[in-house]
Amino acid sequence: MTQRRAIVLFALVMAAIPFIPGMPPFWIVLLDNIGLAALVAMGLVILTGVGGLTSFGQAAFCGFGGYVTAILTTSYGMSPWLTLPLSLIASGLAAVILGLMTVRLSGHYLPLGTIAWGLSLFYLFTKLEFLGRNDGISSIPPLRIGSTDLTGAGEIYFVIWLAVVIAALLTVNLLDSRVGRAIRALRRGHIAAESFGVQTARAKLLVFIYAAVLAGLSGWLYAHFQRAVNPTPFGLTASIEYLFIAVVGGAGYVWGAVLGAGIVVVLKEILQSYLPLIFHGQAQLETVVFGLLLVALLQVAPGGLWPQIVALFPTRDKSQKPQAASPLPPREKQTSTGPLLQVQNASKHFGGVVAVNDVSFDVQRQEIVALIGPNGAGKSTTFNLITGILYATAGHFFLSGKNVDGTPPQRVAHLGVARTFQHVKLVPDMSVLENVAIGAHLRGHSGAISSMLRLDRADEARLLAEAARQIERVGLGDQIHQLAGNLSLGQQRIVEIARALCIDPILLLLDEPAAGLRHMEKQKLAALLRQLKTEGMSVLLVEHDMGFVMDLADRIVVLDFGTKIAEGTPSEVRANPDVIKAYLGAAS
Ligand code: ADP
Ligand code: MG
Repeated sequence: MTQRRAIVLFALVMAAIPFIPGMPPFWIVLLDNIGLAALVAMGLVILTGVGGLTSFGQAAFCGFGGYVTAILTTSYGMSPWLTLPLSLIASGLAAVILGLMTVRLSGHYLPLGTIAWGLSLFYLFTKLEFLGRNDGISSIPPLRIGSTDLTGAGEIYFVIWLAVVIAALLTVNLLDSRVGRAIRALRRGHIAAESFGVQTARAKLLVFIYAAVLAGLSGWLYAHFQRAVNPTPFGLTASIEYLFIAVVGGAGYVWGAVLGAGIVVVLKEILQSYLPLIFHGQAQLETVVFGLLLVALLQVAPGGLWPQIVALFPTRDKSQKPQAASPLPPREKQTSTGPLLQVQNASKHFGGVVAVNDVSFDVQRQEIVALIGPNGAGKSTTFNLITGILYATAGHFFLSGKNVDGTPPQRVAHLGVARTFQHVKLVPDMSVLENVAIGAHLRGHSGAISSMLRLDRADEARLLAEAARQIERVGLGDQIHQLAGNLSLGQQRIVEIARALCIDPILLLLDEPAAGLRHMEKQKLAALLRQLKTEGMSVLLVEHDMGFVMDLADRIVVLDFGTKIAEGTPSEVRANPDVIKAYLGAAS
């Protein structure tokens, strides 16, 4: 069953529940609360579980949604439906402002930042006169369809769950797209994503806004369900609870949000109803027990409950190949002559360490150049300088004669430089196909909105077909639907090559591509690189296997302690006494 079919089935089940004979009205109220919480948690699934950005401030965005409609309907007499877009826009705008300040923070500073503005906004809600301070705003009109007021829990139920179903569909669609892959790549750090053209700051801001808008929608519904708003449900405690919901359900999964909301809301209800009976009204004891139960739950299922439930069922057959699609247009042929890459007097200092010291070399068109040298010689750093991951301390870089000093990695990728990493940077819980498709990011153009509405299908089919083509080309066709993390390290390096080829590069930088490969696999790799060369590509590679390098490279540049000590054809380099002393040793 596809995710989308599952959502339709789920919608039918939820629509039928209120019609079950003898359904206690109280259960419907609980389901309403579950739906409201699930909406916020679904935003957290994509923000925290998928994007890796932890927010302790989501309840404040519910507050924006709730207060905006509360003021507009009570003070200005607006119809609740008209305030819906305004509530969502207010939450989204708040996310833009707070997001611009926060998403650039990294590590622990990001969650701390969200706590800070979560607290400030709560304080603001309690202090502002026009928001009713601690009392909030009451007498909010109910939603109304035709002449029917949706006053009861049973009526607004349908609106809440329709919102949950639509949010689930949009979220599933977003994740299954070009933009979604970029978001999913964020959790593994910026470098790989940016090397394939992903604007990571923009992707982060996008998920921030998306999560805030879902929270705002929940707040808007809440205001018309409770017919009143006050600061309490929009405070830090509520924010932490939403995070709990996402984590308990399974923070990377859309259905985890619904499941987590169900568990947490029901658990709280049971504890609040029964604990006072057992402990004779000891105040706040349910909070303690609630906390302990959640901790226990996380011990049993650290990744959340949803993946555990999914594991009980046989996985569906994912073996179908991506559908055929018209090929992506190739990169315009370069007409300029002269060297493809020029590195001139490049230096890079890390504090006192001189990693690269006044290094110069060129890579010509259709040439395979090897960069060799002992560990720590500065080879990977040179790659990072060329690709814009690091700024050079000194020196100049030219691509096809064009100066690219200080050019960001996304732009370098756009110019046709693709790379692999010495320490493999794939997203392990994404399939080989999806990982490789990130390489084609710059060749697609669908944005978040068209992805959510599935207007991106033609674009998406072309990207996936290109990814599949490159996977076949590197000989991993049988592994296309495997999770990248399940492959051997050697195979993962080959996946990185397929991903790099998806850029349709003019220059391919490979950092130790043959490490971990068996003899036959190395031969296949050498054949592939020769093939790429005849097709017009240039390759700059770092490799320790001297047999591989000597056979393959047209020219070799040797680094030692960051300094170029030799350059020439394989036979020249092999005979160079400095190289033998520094690197090749007596063995060769
Ligand atoms: P190679 O790839 O040739 O093995 P590297 O380019 O990775 O060498 O490293 C060259 C030198 O720079 C090493 O001494 C390494 O410790 C240092 N170095 C590399 N990256 C960093 C960094 N980000 N910060 C500090 N030192 C670094
Ligand atoms: Mg290295």
